[in-house]
Amino acid sequence: MKILSLLLLVYVAVSSGFPVAPEAEDEGKTLRLSYLQNFYGLQRDYQPHVRKKGENSLAAKLKEMQAFFGLQMTGKPDLDTLKTMRKPRCGIPDIGQYVFTTGNPKWKRNNLTYRILNYTPKMRQADVDEAIQKAFSVWSNVTPLTFQKLEDKEADIMISFAYRDHQDNSPFDGPNGQLAHAFQPGEGIGGDVHLDEEEAWTKDGRGYNLFIVVAHELGHSLGLSHSNDPGALMYPTYSYTDPNEFLLPQDDIDGIQKFPGRPVTPQACDPNLTFDAITTLRGETIFFKGRYMLRKHPERTEAELNFISLFWPKLPSGIQAAYENIERDEVLLFKGNKDKYWVLRGYDIAPGYPKQIYHLGFPKTVKRVNAAYSDEATGKTYFFIADRYWRYDENKKSMDSGYPRKIVSDFGKIGRVDAVFQKNGYVYFFHGTTQFQFDPRAKRIVRKMKSISWFNC
Ligand SMILES: [Zn+2]
Ligand SMILES: [Zn+2]
Repeated sequence: MKILSLLLLVYVAVSSGFPVAPEAEDEGKTLRLSYLQNFYGLQRDYQPHVRKKGENSLAAKLKEMQAFFGLQMTGKPDLDTLKTMRKPRCGIPDIGQYVFTTGNPKWKRNNLTYRILNYTPKMRQADVDEAIQKAFSVWSNVTPLTFQKLEDKEADIMISFAYRDHQDNSPFDGPNGQLAHAFQPGEGIGGDVHLDEEEAWTKDGRGYNLFIVVAHELGHSLGLSHSNDPGALMYPTYSYTDPNEFLLPQDDIDGIQKFPGRPVTPQACDPNLTFDAITTLRGETIFFKGRYMLRKHPERTEAELNFISLFWPKLPSGIQAAYENIERDEVLLFKGNKDKYWVLRGYDIAPGYPKQIYHLGFPKTVKRVNAAYSDEATGKTYFFIADRYWRYDENKKSMDSGYPRKIVSDFGKIGRVDAVFQKNGYVYFFHGTTQFQFDPRAKRIVRKMKSISWFNC
């Protein structure tokens, strides 16, 4: 693997204070050189005293790093930049060799195996097993992949705790700094995950949560590179989420589902089928998935598969939320990261769209809507974003105050809502391949089903 030669020791400041004494300034210099060498492809033999210009200069590499983390692109090692460099992180570079634009390494099979080679004395063995199994389920939930645990023999993904130099040219650096690394899909070391034995591994919020780190590394094992979305699991720096409340962010789902060769045409009866968005439309139910939509007429048993562009050539694929306002005979469609929504009047796109979602009263911090439904009886529309929801008044045309609220407080343990729609007085929530039927009168989940239950499979 080419990446091996890129990984070297990451120097980490044990203690730091700003502004700094001269020796700390040296330390800052060492830190930024090794950081840019390890993660941004700065030449190994870079001479800090020999000034260089152009794309390989220190300033250019700093700017590249600042751009990745959304920092001000000063090209200088300012406080924010050094602060980011001090964060514990994954050992895989953010740019360069690892990016899978060339070759697209991916597994050729969907049934993969893994093996845990050794354990850390910092956790109970059963807790390690559980954290790792849960990390695999993060990815099997959103792909056709399955992961079987082996007790011996060579597995596709070998997981081990390793100390300092562990014979792969990527030595670990002791506590903090680089926490783990993993290898792209492939034979031998390909797919393997190495965890720095000297970290304070835990099953909770103290030290470093093993589940979170392994879930991230497995993303690499499956071929993903780093994301610059701070909310993504594949963001390079470590951040803690309670494993019991963890939901794979949309950016990572989009990443893993974009792989060439993975089934893209949705099959109505595929038990692994998940949906981007669902809405009713004049009595029919429309399920959106990628470039496709499945139309289900209440009187027909079969759902009809079509390209979205066949009906609405101007709509993008990958609709992320949709709802029908029956009273106005409108359907609103939302598409992520562009902050946009479209209005369909009947079957036609209304003029003047798309518009930015801020017109509905969302603050600028909201970038996308995961799912939405409108309650015909009350004229209230519910927008689901990550673990929260907002309520919009269709008559006043404004957001109700007191929102967002936690989804779990008012709807129960659904987790992230991928899609939702209302039909015959019930609300149907979709989370991965699971569907929850919610009774708004009783305010509780009354039934749990497979997501594909609407297709008479
Ligand atoms: Zn990583
Ligand atoms: Zn290693």
